[in-house]
Amino acid sequence: MNELLSLRNEVDELRHQVQTDALTGLYNFRFFSNILPLEMERSRRSSVPLSLIILDIDHFKQFNDTWGHELGNQALQHVSQLIKVAIRKLDFACRFGGEEFAVILPGTEIHQALNVAERLRLLIVNSEFKINKKDVQITASLGVDEFKSTDDYTVQEFIERVDSRLYQAKAAGRNLVKGPIDTPLVTDTNVTADEKDALFDLFNDADD
Ligand code: GH3
Ligand code: MG
Ligand code: MG
Repeated sequence: MNELLSLRNEVDELRHQVQTDALTGLYNFRFFSNILPLEMERSRRSSVPLSLIILDIDHFKQFNDTWGHELGNQALQHVSQLIKVAIRKLDFACRFGGEEFAVILPGTEIHQALNVAERLRLLIVNSEFKINKKDVQITASLGVDEFKSTDDYTVQEFIERVDSRLYQAKAAGRNLVKGPIDTPLVTDTNVTADEKDALFDLFNDADD
């Protein structure tokens, strides 16, 4: 019995390793690639929308060139922690590539997703990251879009849509959120009780 239990723990640990990015503790690209098609399929069946945010740290090459790779890694960990704080339990935060992150928001329409993205942007730009007791500012640009259950584009097309929003945010000057509609003003950087309720309602409805 004990052997079975330890085997199960080992399997759990291996599963965790296979789907986690070692540096940041977020889900890795492999996990992202598996879960996004599943969530899109769930969206199609349940008529509940899904949103995707892609976040890219601004001028990160310059950061590395100035401060070195090791502090660059610490900055990536710092941003990852902020992403974890900003999102809700049912969202998936993934390290998409080097200094790029993707957040999958199941059961979330575009207005809410833009809110989450704007909250994240504010958290990052207002966060403290000190090097030699000096504040070093980190900013990020974010692209957001929504997948509606009636949309028929592919996983790759969905990612490309979000990526093109990110490109717009970069082109418009960085430290910005871009989506298919204008970003609502966020005054509170916490997940509100209303947002949490809305999310759980959506899921409960979907399962009825
Ligand atoms: P932009 O604002 O347009 O995104 O500019 P950028 O400099 O952030 O973009 P670019 O793609 O030119 O550079 C990305 C940099 O991210 C280059 C690379 O050195 C750095 N990077 C990628 N992965 C890691 C990592 O794991 N650790 C560290 N320290 N740096 C990384
Ligand atoms: Mg990049
Ligand atoms: Mg970048």
